[in-house]
Amino acid sequence: MLINGQWLAGERRFSVANPATGEPLGEVADGAAAETTAAIDAAAAAFPAWAASSAFERAAVLERAYTLMVERKGELARLLTQEQGKPLRAAAVETQYAADFLSWFAEQAKRVYGDILPSPRADQRFLVRRQPVGVVGAITPWNYPISMLTRKLGPALAAGCTVVLKPAEATPLIAIEVFKLLQEAGVPDGVINLVTARDPRPVGEVLVSDPRVRKLTFTGSTAVGKQLAAAAGANMKRISLELGGHAPFIVFPDADPVHAAKGAAAVKFLNMGQACISPNRLYVHRAQVEPFVAELVKRVERLAVGNGLEQGIAVGPLINEAAVAKVDAQVRDAVNKGAQCLAGGRRLDEGDFAAGTFYAPTVLAGITRDMTIYREETFGPVAAVVPYDDGDDVIAMANDTTYGLAAYVYTNDLKTALRSFEALDFGIIGINDINPTAAAAPFGGIKESGIGREGGREGIEEYLDVKLGGIAL
Ligand code: NAD
Repeated sequence: MLINGQWLAGERRFSVANPATGEPLGEVADGAAAETTAAIDAAAAAFPAWAASSAFERAAVLERAYTLMVERKGELARLLTQEQGKPLRAAAVETQYAADFLSWFAEQAKRVYGDILPSPRADQRFLVRRQPVGVVGAITPWNYPISMLTRKLGPALAAGCTVVLKPAEATPLIAIEVFKLLQEAGVPDGVINLVTARDPRPVGEVLVSDPRVRKLTFTGSTAVGKQLAAAAGANMKRISLELGGHAPFIVFPDADPVHAAKGAAAVKFLNMGQACISPNRLYVHRAQVEPFVAELVKRVERLAVGNGLEQGIAVGPLINEAAVAKVDAQVRDAVNKGAQCLAGGRRLDEGDFAAGTFYAPTVLAGITRDMTIYREETFGPVAAVVPYDDGDDVIAMANDTTYGLAAYVYTNDLKTALRSFEALDFGIIGINDINPTAAAAPFGGIKESGIGREGGREGIEEYLDVKLGGIAL
């Protein structure tokens, strides 16, 4: 743990394992309520000086952190693969994405502008200033354990906030490396504090109840996000929530089904399907199901599964046993209700797979609304194809979910593209595009996928309060 610039080994510790091999990777401090309060003490004490530093000073620190992260991309990516499982190449892409937030918000720090507004009274002027909200509590997930950190730390530090962050219990090691790097870049003691914990609840309870924490930023499941938001709301804290998703992927009849299937195969199995923007329902017109599925199955069968450190691996292990059980239960449920399993459909546990948590990349066709996978986030390597017919309103079908994070559309018709963009109730729409994300773009969901945006011009606003001054002349 890092509290007030000091690294603490902690009285209790817990171990972190490699999901590909089951081997222990290291031990970290097991923090709880007392450590969280100590971290808030440090963040509250460090806040006035950090908030008073110039935007240019804070930007310089973030720029140095960007440079260090890019220099260390190889070693960070290696640790990321060992701790989280994603293949090494994908880990390097995530690390670059993480670094991009540092660079982007280093620039944005210098663009926190105020306003001078006209008043209805001739003898009055209005001044508007944006200032940091104060101490921020941050809770991050395991699936993108380096980029989700910088997506919060970047804007918080740029705005002049101080932070207490709790990483996911499965991936604290990469968080420790990021905090060391930020210290090295010149972030002063107490400005960033890291509390690692096996049980997240006591840490969360302090973060949502301590009055000195002015904002909570959370990325994780909708269920936990709702609990934390309710508690934070009771204490009138600002919140931003990046939660679960259930992305539709619509192939319109005018699109090339083979091209769309290539896109689906590429995006669905990224991070073993453990992404909040991973397509969960592939809507394909019944007349095009055959060519779409043929291409998808061909590509899925070529995906090499294994330890992400090895050359050529495209699909690594799932994060843990519970994830394997959840994915398998969704596949069994779909098959029992009539879906056809055209690839995979089972856990891989022979030979080298025995010690890890691997699931075969899976294609299910004939998905219907009564199946669990049609409603619940899979968070695993399963492509679920839902056929639709001429009379079906596929946009309405896509919107029929409590989630609203990402949606994908394949069409060659401009009208269909624009109408879909406007009518889909999701925060992020990929149009013939399977990667509609970047540090420069606002990321976030509507409905039960969350509140607020990360990245883009919007990202820093989440860490700023607006203050009005009225001046009588
Ligand atoms: P999770 O909600 O179980 O855990 C997320 C974080 O919350 C972890 O740090 C965990 O320790 C902590 N946590 C869990 N229970 C808590 C509690 N009671 N009090 C305080 N903290 C608590 O989710 P997960 O399984 O780690 O992550 C997967 C989920 O995250 C998926 O639903 C996914 O869609 C979502 N996600 C969303 C985005 C996004 O930007 N919208 C990005 C990545 C992941």
